[in-house]
Amino acid sequence: MNSQQWIEKSDNYIMKTYGRYPIVPVRGEGCRLWDADGKEYLDFLGGVAVNNLGHCHPKVVAALQKQAGELLHCSNYYQIPQQIELAELLCNHSFADKAFFCNSGAEANEAAIKLARKYSRDTYGPQRYEIITAAESFHGRTMATVSATGQEKVQRFFDPLLHGFTHVPFNDAAALEAAVTPNTCAIMLEPIQGEGGVNVPSPGYFQEVRRICDQHGLLLIFDEVQVGMGRTGKLFAYEHFDVVPDIMTLAKALAGGAPIGTMLAADKYAAAFTPGTHGSTFGGNPLVCAAAIATVRTILEDGILNRTEEIGEYLLGELETLGKKYSFVKEVRGIGLMIGMSLEIPGAEIVKKGHECGVLLNVTHDTVLRFVPPLVVTKQEINLMIELLDGIFAKI
Ligand code: PMP
Repeated sequence: MNSQQWIEKSDNYIMKTYGRYPIVPVRGEGCRLWDADGKEYLDFLGGVAVNNLGHCHPKVVAALQKQAGELLHCSNYYQIPQQIELAELLCNHSFADKAFFCNSGAEANEAAIKLARKYSRDTYGPQRYEIITAAESFHGRTMATVSATGQEKVQRFFDPLLHGFTHVPFNDAAALEAAVTPNTCAIMLEPIQGEGGVNVPSPGYFQEVRRICDQHGLLLIFDEVQVGMGRTGKLFAYEHFDVVPDIMTLAKALAGGAPIGTMLAADKYAAAFTPGTHGSTFGGNPLVCAAAIATVRTILEDGILNRTEEIGEYLLGELETLGKKYSFVKEVRGIGLMIGMSLEIPGAEIVKKGHECGVLLNVTHDTVLRFVPPLVVTKQEINLMIELLDGIFAKI
């Protein structure tokens, strides 16, 4: 079947939730994807920051193949060494002491919200449940994470939202402090906002946020679902900001393309989850954990972090040079390979033209082109993308 036939069949059987681009990818390798018509694409979206190691990285594929022949799933027992090993790996490379595993970013954030509320309730009483998050933030599509999300377009149609979420402008410590009440239990933020338009905080912002948390006894939760796992040139984005959270969530790129989520916490808070308080049938199953172990080891051992920093600076520089040629480009910003180009015009048409030319681009927050290619992207691939984008910009 060709792409058009798949799209027609999809319309018959698949609910229309995501706004989908009319492309049917069937195979991937590194930074390349091929669709059902055999057309090749250069992937600068990487499954929205999922495919950090590129499509079908051989070490991830080998880990999945090996594990698939040994054990796929088993709940309620300790016999999941892959899960324990992955938790050890993540804790040894972060502030955290303990991990909880689930299947997606939204689920990881749900777990973070529940843990923060449980800890605060145990410590201060049941009225202490409010969580402050940022305007334009994105934390997921489940009811609690929709309530945490700071975007009206995500929340509308789903009233009543979960009680107890307050939204304040991102990167404004004074607004954050003013929103704290005696019932506040936590502050939940993305270190760099992804869906909100690739918004990088000012130096010093997170030190202020940490001070506010310490002063008022609040937990600091970082949603690293989009920016974690090497995307910014460090394993976790918080490392750029000289700040340590109490809870962190990961998903997307953690298992090299296999579905996983995790919520990591310092012991003091992790202890609030006791048997029977939370769970997930497939959370931490050996298949995805084996893929995640291979992913984390590859990121740490194959020089991916240094490479990301270097190639990220190159991409940022090339985009800045391109941006100077066109008056409708406002700003290029980002860290590592988490880069946004804000425009004075909507980006949808540029993305569409990119697809026609064989380059997968994305627009977030309507006017921000987002560049989140696999971390293994080469200079040649960047040069090719810039050339194609220049051609598209020239016709606007
Ligand atoms: N948090 C952030 C920062 C995200 O970018 C996303 C997904 N775009 C999520 C949470 C939700 O992740 P998932 O789709 O895996 O539930």
